[in-house]
Amino acid sequence: MSFRLPSSMQVLERGWLSANNILFFEGERASLIDSGYHSHVGQTLALLHHALAGRRLERLYITHAHSDHMGGNPAVQAAYGCQIHIPAGSAEAVARWDEDALLLAPLGQSAPRYQYDHLIQAGEAFELGGLCWQAQAAPGHDMHALVYYNPEKRLLISGDALWENGFGLVFPDLLGQPGGLDAARQTLEHLGRLAIDCVIPGHGVPFVAVDEALARAHQRLAGFIDNSEKFAWNATKVLVAFVLQDKQRLPSADFPAFVHAIPLIWSMNERFLGLEENQLIRRVYEDLERSGALYRDGDFIYSQ
Ligand SMILES: [Zn+2]
Repeated sequence: MSFRLPSSMQVLERGWLSANNILFFEGERASLIDSGYHSHVGQTLALLHHALAGRRLERLYITHAHSDHMGGNPAVQAAYGCQIHIPAGSAEAVARWDEDALLLAPLGQSAPRYQYDHLIQAGEAFELGGLCWQAQAAPGHDMHALVYYNPEKRLLISGDALWENGFGLVFPDLLGQPGGLDAARQTLEHLGRLAIDCVIPGHGVPFVAVDEALARAHQRLAGFIDNSEKFAWNATKVLVAFVLQDKQRLPSADFPAFVHAIPLIWSMNERFLGLEENQLIRRVYEDLERSGALYRDGDFIYSQ
């Protein structure tokens, strides 16, 4: 990437289980966007400790209230005493710790409970790392998600609304709540109207080929809108691969029970796919093996 981020920012690129951590330095103080998945919290704290180099972490923001973006919130808050800022639309779900609304129970995922200190409204602006960031609504993957945009440096922190190759699963429609796909399309159209030189996504390396990424995202979304089986099957694979990444390995014989324990897969199957249970489990195994997301060694299955 030829683009240089401002020196007051540092992106800790993580994997898929943990979202990227984006740090902002303000003299002796610092702020963070997104805290990763809870099972990676030891690594998150070690990375933060190193990057902060003695600075005080005072504020923690999230792009949206999903396990891979907020899982480190309580541990980071306990370590630094920072204030937690979350998108206003997720206030109730976080306050009540609604495991369904937070997509924890339905996805077979977990995150430790925390209390937020402040709500971020779409349209609000605040300073991070000496730069002014606008919170903008980015519904689709999550109807309450926000992206953070800095017009001066033409930077976008996109969460899971836009990646270099795609975007996060569009959950509302997968959950039987139509409107997410249309919202995702409108969000991409909105992002296409912003002047952006660099996108810092929730997952993957920051990228500058923004028009190309938007074109790919539109194309992918159109494919999902046209073909609900493709949409649901892609989600099935992503959900299994995610939980497997958390577990890292499991006995091959446990794979059917493991897939069985992800409730959303079965409601999607009912809604979109209509496969026999064994057929679904076999197909997801074969597809993930073919794509390299899992491999078998002896009696165990390993995440890639
Ligand atoms: Zn994510």
